[in-house]
Amino acid sequence: MDPLVDTRSLFLGLLSEGEYMNQSTDTHAHKVERLASAVRERLDGGSPAHISKGGVPHFVPLPRDRRRIGKPLDVSSLDEIVEIDSRRRLCVAEPGVTFGRLVKATLAHGLVPKVVPELEDITLGGAVAGCSIESMSFRYGGFHDSCIEYEVVTGTGEVLICSPSKNADVFEMMHGSYGTLGLLTRLTFELVPAKRYVRLDYHTHRNIASFNEAMSAACEAGEHDFIDGIIHSPDKLVLCLGSFVDHAPYVSNYRWLNIYYKSTYQRSEDYLETPDYFFRYDAECHWMTRTVPPLEWKPVRLAVGKVFLGSSNLIKWSRRLDKLLALKKRPDVVCDVFLPVDRFVEFFDWYVSDFDFFPLWIVPYKPAKKYPWLSEELAARQGEKLFIDCAIYGKRNSEAVDYSKLLEDKVFELNGLKTLISRNHYTPERFWRIYNRSNYAAAKDRLDPNKVFPDLYESLGRVE
Ligand SMILES: Cc1cc2nc3c(=O)[nH]c(=O)nc-3n(C[C@H](O)[C@H](O)[C@H](O)COP(=O)(O)OP(=O)(O)OC[C@H]3O[C@@H](n4cnc5c(N)ncnc54)[C@H](O)[C@@H]3O)c2cc1C
Repeated sequence: MDPLVDTRSLFLGLLSEGEYMNQSTDTHAHKVERLASAVRERLDGGSPAHISKGGVPHFVPLPRDRRRIGKPLDVSSLDEIVEIDSRRRLCVAEPGVTFGRLVKATLAHGLVPKVVPELEDITLGGAVAGCSIESMSFRYGGFHDSCIEYEVVTGTGEVLICSPSKNADVFEMMHGSYGTLGLLTRLTFELVPAKRYVRLDYHTHRNIASFNEAMSAACEAGEHDFIDGIIHSPDKLVLCLGSFVDHAPYVSNYRWLNIYYKSTYQRSEDYLETPDYFFRYDAECHWMTRTVPPLEWKPVRLAVGKVFLGSSNLIKWSRRLDKLLALKKRPDVVCDVFLPVDRFVEFFDWYVSDFDFFPLWIVPYKPAKKYPWLSEELAARQGEKLFIDCAIYGKRNSEAVDYSKLLEDKVFELNGLKTLISRNHYTPERFWRIYNRSNYAAAKDRLDPNKVFPDLYESLGRVE
């Protein structure tokens, strides 16, 4: 049995035993009380609030975006790491802490979070509410699957502690709630031992069947710490297997002049320092730089890389182009879709003929349990399987065919799921065949009866 399981209950409520990083819990309590009273002031109605966490949101910018028009609730002051308990391998932190900062702090203790999303400025709160995963997800599920307690400010201004044993229904529904149920104000989550470097082995496959077989076998064997893949084309599919190591004969770096995704095309192995591994896609925001080709040229990167490279810079610049986007009828497709592993090859064959956009980033993902926000119908059709996240970043859309809608329909047909961070085209009927209407309604009644926060379908179900 995982030794952590026995110590979890001891840890909860014993924050004074560990090491405080930046602040006292009093300060945290004051911040939370200020936020709770700001929520209570909203109880008399008005337009629903959106959560403003400071920094760059990782919602895909859309023309005529209506998702963030409500009055902001500013949670940006909640950005401290409260405690790292090395002995129990647990961390307590506020939701605005970014994974970039978190990894630096936990690595000083030889530990890292179980799941570290690949972009440095993704925050803990956003990772839970917006469903972040990454290359350790084949073993640990989503980041939220490593969380053991949340503090939440509800839509009535109540401060609730929830965990698998206390207010368990609230605890389970915060994942994938997209800021529609309440505010996460503190998270407690598990850490795992890490080493200084990551060794990567790249295995090239020539067809999807062979790639899928090798990826599934690697997930099953569990011999590696990290598994993901980059499909450069239908006959160049690279499975990336990573392991923590203490020593490295050399180290590569993809934070400025060199481009990570391109390196996987040529190399068969590589060594990276651990933080550089976690954020290997950050400089390009995966391959967003491809939309401005000079940004992939070394002299240009040398001259202006500090201003333009990095996911936050790139997303900021793309937001500044919102006005131009509005001229385009249909924005490019930027979307993560999750397919049950037994439908992945079928999806891929369809993708090659109808989408034909590469690279395609692949992340195997094993949810730790059935999520209660999923409809019973979809959960039954999916079964308890490995999922394959296919991340499509930047497929050009067209006037003739809306590729975003086409993708959504195909994923639904194959019992998959897509995240809600981009365009969505659902009718209420289809949406509630995917999401669990009664569990969501019960959580909404319990946490936000006055509708201080928006409704999930109304805010995100149909965003075109
Ligand atoms: C180009 C791009 C690349 C991406 N790459 C990756 C990747 O490599 N790996 C990965 O795992 N994910 C990736 N994502 C998805 C990303 O993980 C999610 O979008 C995540 O939700 C972003 O979190 P954030 O901290 O930026 O929060 P935001 O984008 O600001 O918010 C996300 C959602 O969380 C809610 N929220 C934020 N804070 C709180 C809080 N304190 N309490 C309650 N709700 C809150 C917001 O209301 C919103 O609905 C990518 C997204 C994009 C657009």
